Amino acid sequence: MYAEVFVSCPLDSSFTYSVPEDMDVRVGMRVRVEFGKRTMQGYVVSLHCNKPEGFKVKDIIEPIDDTPIFNESLVELAHEISATYLAAPGEVLSTALPSGYRPSDRHKHPFGSCLKYNAALMPQQEAVFNAILDAEKNDSLLHLIHGITGSGKTEVYIKLAQHMIERNRSVIYCVPEINLSSQIYERLHHVFGDSLIVYHSQLTKNQRLHNWKRFYSGDARIAIGTRSAIFLQNSDLGCIIIDEEHDGSYKENSTPRYNARRVAFYRSRREKCLCVLGSATPSIETMYAAKKGLIGLHSLTERYGDAQLPEVEIIKIDPEKKDKNLSPLLTLYTKRTLDSGHQVIYLLNRRGFSPVVMCGSCSSILECPHCNVSLTYHKNGSLLCHYCGYVQALPKICPSCSSEEIIRVGAGTQRVEESVEKIFNGKNVFRMDQDSTRKKGTIYDVIGRMNSGEIDILLGTQMVAKGFDFPRVSLVGVLLADIGLNIPDFRASERIFSLLVQVSGRSGRGKEPGRVIIQTLDDGHPLFQFLQKQDYEGFYHHELETRRALCYPPFSRLARLLIRGKNRDAVEKNIYALRDELKKNMAGDSSIILLGPAAAPLEKVGDNYRYHIILKGARLENLCRVISLSRHIISDRNLYLEIDIDPYDIL
Ligand code: ADP
Ligand code: ZN
Ligand code: ZN
Repeated sequence: MYAEVFVSCPLDSSFTYSVPEDMDVRVGMRVRVEFGKRTMQGYVVSLHCNKPEGFKVKDIIEPIDDTPIFNESLVELAHEISATYLAAPGEVLSTALPSGYRPSDRHKHPFGSCLKYNAALMPQQEAVFNAILDAEKNDSLLHLIHGITGSGKTEVYIKLAQHMIERNRSVIYCVPEINLSSQIYERLHHVFGDSLIVYHSQLTKNQRLHNWKRFYSGDARIAIGTRSAIFLQNSDLGCIIIDEEHDGSYKENSTPRYNARRVAFYRSRREKCLCVLGSATPSIETMYAAKKGLIGLHSLTERYGDAQLPEVEIIKIDPEKKDKNLSPLLTLYTKRTLDSGHQVIYLLNRRGFSPVVMCGSCSSILECPHCNVSLTYHKNGSLLCHYCGYVQALPKICPSCSSEEIIRVGAGTQRVEESVEKIFNGKNVFRMDQDSTRKKGTIYDVIGRMNSGEIDILLGTQMVAKGFDFPRVSLVGVLLADIGLNIPDFRASERIFSLLVQVSGRSGRGKEPGRVIIQTLDDGHPLFQFLQKQDYEGFYHHELETRRALCYPPFSRLARLLIRGKNRDAVEKNIYALRDELKKNMAGDSSIILLGPAAAPLEKVGDNYRYHIILKGARLENLCRVISLSRHIISDRNLYLEIDIDPYDIL
């Protein structure tokens, strides 16, 4: 007997291995095989008796699983993803499948029967729920719920999930961040009990495998997880939910560079299951498709209960002022809010103590020697590169001109924490960012302390903006809205708009009306007018026209080809060779536009120089064809070619 095995390597075909007499190997199992000189994990996709000719067939070393953990439909999906994103099927399978060896058998989970929960939906929620199920009967499977923050999208998802589970079908519920999955997990656990599993990268490998198998076997019926949960399999998938569908973290940043939202569309079509996207600020692409009628569009325009959308004020701040972190107005409202026993959230979209360190005499900014980004000053006196992790001590003299005048510009979360603590003496300030939440359990801790009222002011990076539901927060302050607005990326304003709407939505979710104060250096930016009126439609139309004028998505598809390597000359030489090859293969196809080559906005990261080419085209197939024909031109072993289809990040 012979097995066709895919291994995780950039080759499009499977490899044939022989199965020893006494070995139990079945389709859908992972096996260990010798590949070249290495032992690798492989995926058995078929078994047959055709002895291959022309080479000596090797035996499979051993099976990893004792029962299959994937089925035919995952293999087909892997081929589809591999064609779209130009990654090999074996690479897709290795991303899609867990890598643990023996699942931890912690305790038996009886099939949970906690399905008694029954919150009545509000009329608008009920209408959306019914409309989606009616459409399903007519095979209309893709839906978008555009619901303002606090409108109860989650309740609709829960009802849809219950509906499916009552019919013995299963549900995948994707959220963009692990932090978010923990709060929603609590909520779903009340409803679904042990029939719920979690799936994300902070679980151990064996926990992941354990949960994977519980879902695969049907023992668990609903899975909540981040991006990679989109590959969970089950015999009868009824519904995929993509919450906060606009979020960039659904896009994977290494090969295969898939977007979980697109994979959800593929699965919906193949497996005839509902796919429900939700957001308060849908991505321009999704909304465009919905308005064209390709995706069912549903709106929730009211907050649950009597809660109102918060009032938003835009305040221009003066960078010359001494304490520019907190304007007098924000200070005043914060005092009032705290005095009335409510809580405050401050958003500062940046880490560290004082982001940039600069020479006061020659104005040079201290940069990471390995990446061309500025170093960030941290409280313990070190300078840190947030791209590669490089650390150095704060120098006493400027490396360029030897002046002793080293100054720090701007403020990071740590410094703001100090000044906020000073101003609101005696209040409990908690800082939440990647540095403070690295420890496991911190998020649960923060959620508990916010709910109990122990924390007065929650200060943090974009982590505080997403999804949290704290009814006693009635003031949100955005300390500097401009951060991230002026980066060279066509999605910059969409990202900032959605971040600011999200964080605004944390305010006034309870009985108390909410307020939002947004501080900016540039209050003339068109984005703020839409934000002030919480006008998504207005923003959407404004942004759509910009995209149309420049022929960006949704009016085109993009592909980014980036070459990186330690030798700048080799990188440059090869990017031009790639350009010539692409041009040759594009000949006659005027629907494709080639931009570049150019140094990427982050020209050097971790000692690697980065140059890129961007292709714009009306049809993805044509882009993929041209790239497939041209990629072979890069054969230098010291260079790496990244192919990113529908890139999200183009820095
Ligand atoms: P969204 O996900 O749209 O931001 P949520 O689903 O978090 O909104 O709902 C906001 C708040 O309103 C939550 O505390 C939720 O429990 C409550 N809520 C929403 N709909 C209902 C309902 N039908 N019955 C009871 N509570 C609801
Ligand atoms: Zn200097
Ligand atoms: Zn660096």
